Amino acid sequence: MLKSRKIYRILIPIFVMSSIIGIPLSFSYMAVKASQVNREGDTRFFKNSLFMDMHSSISSDPILIKMKDFTYEESIEVKKAISQIDELSDNLNYIYENDSKGKPIRVIYINNNVELPNTIGGTTKYKADDLSAEILYPIEINIREGLINYVYSEDHSKTLLASVITHEMMHTLGFSDLKTEKWLGQSIMYYNLSDSSDHGVAGLTEQDKKDIISVYGESEDLENI
Ligand SMILES: [Zn+2]
Repeated sequence: MLKSRKIYRILIPIFVMSSIIGIPLSFSYMAVKASQVNREGDTRFFKNSLFMDMHSSISSDPILIKMKDFTYEESIEVKKAISQIDELSDNLNYIYENDSKGKPIRVIYINNNVELPNTIGGTTKYKADDLSAEILYPIEINIREGLINYVYSEDHSKTLLASVITHEMMHTLGFSDLKTEKWLGQSIMYYNLSDSSDHGVAGLTEQDKKDIISVYGESEDLENI
């Protein structure tokens, strides 16, 4: 039976928690080089302690999504949001069933119905290799309960669940929260999803798509959007 969805305007800034492995400061050459990169770069990526952009490794190996405590309807929403990211890149391959024949694969756990503080819709936890700035698996995403009941785009096509999943999955690719006003209405990574929704952003924007393709896609893909 279809439940009627209510539209709520609630303040849900989405925070990320990441724990990063520290390394000694004796890698001074790398640190200087990385600082230069940081000055020239922008703020869309997480930086590690060497100020390098953190990223998921480029590989055709599948990334297994393990979902816990999602209803069928919720899991459809989650998969739709993830497939949007998947389709933008030849270098990302998300799967949902364990392939016993394959070698050990990368895993992202997504747990639903997790108790989180009122203003937080989801969190992403991972570690990173400080030398390569590669995000390490497994990654754990925790989602607050009931987000599917909130409609989160003006045309009612996206739920808050899909918005939060998209935002948190972007963190697993190294994209950071954007907290300055200039990103409001420009990116799903703006930290306050309520404000984003008011500015028409409930999923990947053209800017987000370009960002994903520029790191994880083929160069010719960029010319097609
Ligand atoms: Zn975030």
